[in-house]
Amino acid sequence: MNLYDLLASRFPADRTKPCFLLPDGSAISYGELEDRTGRVAALLRARGVQTGDRVALQAPKSPQGVMVYLAALKIGAVFLPLNQAYTPSEVEYFLTDAEPAVFITDPVAFAGEAQGLAPITEITARDDADLASIIYTSGTTGRSKGAMLSHGNLAANALALHAAWGFSPDDVLLHALPIFHVHGLFVALHCAFLSGGPMVWLERYEDAPVLEGLRRATVMMGVPTFYTRLLGNPGFTRDAAAHMRLFVCGSAPLLPTTFAEFEDRTGMRILERYGMSEAVIITTNPLDGDRIAGSVGYPLPGVELRIGGGEDTGVIQIRGPSVFGGYWRMPEKTAEEFTADGFFITGDVGHRDPDGRVWISGRAKDLIISGGYNVYPKEIELLFDEMAGVTESAVIGVPHPDFGEAVVAVVIGQGDETAMIAAAREKLAAFKTPKRVFFVDELPRNAMGKVQKNLLRDQYKATFT
Ligand code: ATP
Ligand code: MG
Repeated sequence: MNLYDLLASRFPADRTKPCFLLPDGSAISYGELEDRTGRVAALLRARGVQTGDRVALQAPKSPQGVMVYLAALKIGAVFLPLNQAYTPSEVEYFLTDAEPAVFITDPVAFAGEAQGLAPITEITARDDADLASIIYTSGTTGRSKGAMLSHGNLAANALALHAAWGFSPDDVLLHALPIFHVHGLFVALHCAFLSGGPMVWLERYEDAPVLEGLRRATVMMGVPTFYTRLLGNPGFTRDAAAHMRLFVCGSAPLLPTTFAEFEDRTGMRILERYGMSEAVIITTNPLDGDRIAGSVGYPLPGVELRIGGGEDTGVIQIRGPSVFGGYWRMPEKTAEEFTADGFFITGDVGHRDPDGRVWISGRAKDLIISGGYNVYPKEIELLFDEMAGVTESAVIGVPHPDFGEAVVAVVIGQGDETAMIAAAREKLAAFKTPKRVFFVDELPRNAMGKVQKNLLRDQYKATFT
């Protein structure tokens, strides 16, 4: 089935109900969304977009960008969103790789131009296995790869999340995430569309409009930096969150300290989940039942999750209805990342506890090998994050003449380097103990709040050489 069919079948029967609640106080109803999407679809067709062609979008977030997404689905084209942060030379790589039929940089003007056309009402038939979207991965561990997601992949995940998080038509979703990434595009939008409820629509995270939006919303989805910023604002009180039923977090690890501080402040526990471009959402903490700091919860129904390598802790492998078909035009890379029995090798290291909960300890590529011993940065980061004066830490390996790699901690905060190393040594074996601690104001992050350890490794590479 075409994913658009599924989404539109859940739009409210009363199409005058609002879909987008905009910052200027105006709204776009579900009826308008449907009508204007049909016109954008007509303009895409008029521009020569055929079934299976890619439609690329790189633009500031707008409802019209969502219309381009839905219109592409509707005509059986493949939606290709690009991070706004990409520079022209980076964009050139993506466009050369994906060869879109159109590249839209001003969806507001595009949708405006489409107003003069009659809407397409027919939905192009698609099979579950047909390609719906290519999402380029964030490029945290190397060059971005285009994850090919099908109509069936996205529909299965949307239905699973809608159920797991208890969405109903009464929900109002605060949407402050970008829409070039699976989190804001698929996870957030699909939950709202399947419930037929409105979204408080913000172009980006900013304290004041988010605090105002929380008074009207019931659910917020965010990355960890949204939550640390909220907690940094004295206006974020128990009362400010009183209208909300659910705070969801993902895209990067949520610090246990943030989780605890949030609960202290609001009486509510953030629901952390784990996902990626290649499979959308894989695991989630429960809606009803214990949400535990540091764990990403249980696999969604239908997802098989196992730990590779034969030890308790190893690389997480997954199989299930939302797992992508492969990387765009990278058959060899795709073959390398799947096991013979069809599990995708995520590259994230983790373990399951006796209760079945999944815990992520970092990425395989961030593993440090010092003097021949494996060092998992997360264990050391958790220790530093608990130290007085430390807000957050990132532990990396840098070249060392004797040990191959040496462990180094980069810390947001202040303190005495020698004392911190001594304190760490009391809890950790010598080979795990950082040889240096560097104090910084900020860690380098991408748009989704992910710490860019490759940049840190580069910055501190000459520490011992
Ligand atoms: P690339 O694959 O190009 O190196 P990337 O993996 O950062 O980049 P995305 O697909 O945007 O690209 O991000 C998925 C990754 O984000 C996951 O593999 C995982 O490492 C991380 N992640 C997402 N949610 C969580 C979470 N709740 N806790 C820890 N890590 C998370
Ligand atoms: Mg990845």
